[in-house]
Amino acid sequence: MECSIDSAGIAAAQASQPTVAETERFDGIDLLTLGNAIATPFYAYSANAIRQRIADLQQALAGMDAVVCFAVKANPTLAILQLMAKAGLGADIVSSGELRRSLRAGIPASRIVFSGVGKSDAEIAEALDAGVGRFNIESVDELAALQRIAHQRGAIARAAVRINPDVDARTHGKISTGKAENKFGVSIDEARQWFADADRRGNVRLDGLHMHIGSQILELEPMRQALQRLAAFWRELTKDGHRIDSIDVGGGLGVVYRKEHDRPIELQGYVQAMKEALVGFEGRVILEPGRYLVAEAGVLLTRVIRTKGNDERRFLVVDAAMNDLLRPSLYDAWHDIDKVASDEGGTRPRVAYDIVGPVCETGDTLATARMLPPCAPGDLLAVRGAGAYGASMSSTYNSRPLIAEVLVDDGCYALIRRKQSFEDMVAGEQAATSWRAL
Ligand SMILES: *Cc1c(COP(=O)(O)O)cnc(C)c1O
Repeated sequence: MECSIDSAGIAAAQASQPTVAETERFDGIDLLTLGNAIATPFYAYSANAIRQRIADLQQALAGMDAVVCFAVKANPTLAILQLMAKAGLGADIVSSGELRRSLRAGIPASRIVFSGVGKSDAEIAEALDAGVGRFNIESVDELAALQRIAHQRGAIARAAVRINPDVDARTHGKISTGKAENKFGVSIDEARQWFADADRRGNVRLDGLHMHIGSQILELEPMRQALQRLAAFWRELTKDGHRIDSIDVGGGLGVVYRKEHDRPIELQGYVQAMKEALVGFEGRVILEPGRYLVAEAGVLLTRVIRTKGNDERRFLVVDAAMNDLLRPSLYDAWHDIDKVASDEGGTRPRVAYDIVGPVCETGDTLATARMLPPCAPGDLLAVRGAGAYGASMSSTYNSRPLIAEVLVDDGCYALIRRKQSFEDMVAGEQAATSWRAL
């Protein structure tokens, strides 16, 4: 396609680097050239890679009454949400901020589901007024709050109960959500009671079931087990005369962070397990994938600032840090990292590097003992699988401004979030001059 959006930067970079040989193509753009056009560190996302994931999922679901609600927390940048809106996706949100982003991106309120254990009264009211499609309810207190707030507004809220199916998703402990000891959802025993008492809540139409057992799940078996528990409960409720219009199976599909190591669940098998568990169900199935749609479509481009070493280790100090990409520090997560260079180091032997950021924490380590071609200050590195829970979990720790995000589409790129300026970062702060007494 012709770049209607600013591609002058790329053209300029190409002109100024006429001798640079081609490196990897990232959605039609040479990655090294992109890295030279924009100040590092920054996130780049491939629009075509995201569209491909959406298409794969929609194809696997063909023939089912299914709605895909993108889990906004994975990547809430407006241009990414606009891409989801354009493909007809809904949104799974967990806050008022995500609600507003989704609406602003053009996702219809009717396709928004509101999850989360701690929705405030104000958030519930705002979501009711916006007309969100469904509230995924996580506790009896929240159910009572929804009834009270909907009653005050003369509204009828549609709700699903989030079931905690008590299965072990066999993923990282911090992203496992479907065990009885986790804070999420309620037991089937408790949910049964909610349906038995449904008549007492005239402003809540409880006609959905929901679950989400964890994230980065690479095995089908826990998914299948959870689906079967959910389905058994649906059958029981139906037999007891309760009408269930929607079953939300959550997100959690794992992706490849480590090539030739991570083996994601095959979509066909996943959808098949869903169909088998829900045979006879005539309502709508909702899916809430986050990571699956965007993780592998993103890279974090970062440059080596310094190299240093001692008897034990070789370090690459890069310009991206834990505040930009928290996953390695928070979850010990692995991200493949490659040097972006035309010669890739030639025939020189690879070196084991610890790749660390400038933040003053030992935990500010993106990777340890990675075999890379010899690197020098100024070299560009690509951190893979950075499209989900990358920018969205970033912070300004060490007073490092939030970094830029770029969308690449068929050889063109567009800045979708500019790097925060110092003034952006301190906006909202002020000297303690207006003191008040209570
Ligand atoms: C985080 C979350 C998701 C998305 O999880 P992924 O692993 O990114 O697919 C879906 N549903 C709920 C309720 C969540 O909290």
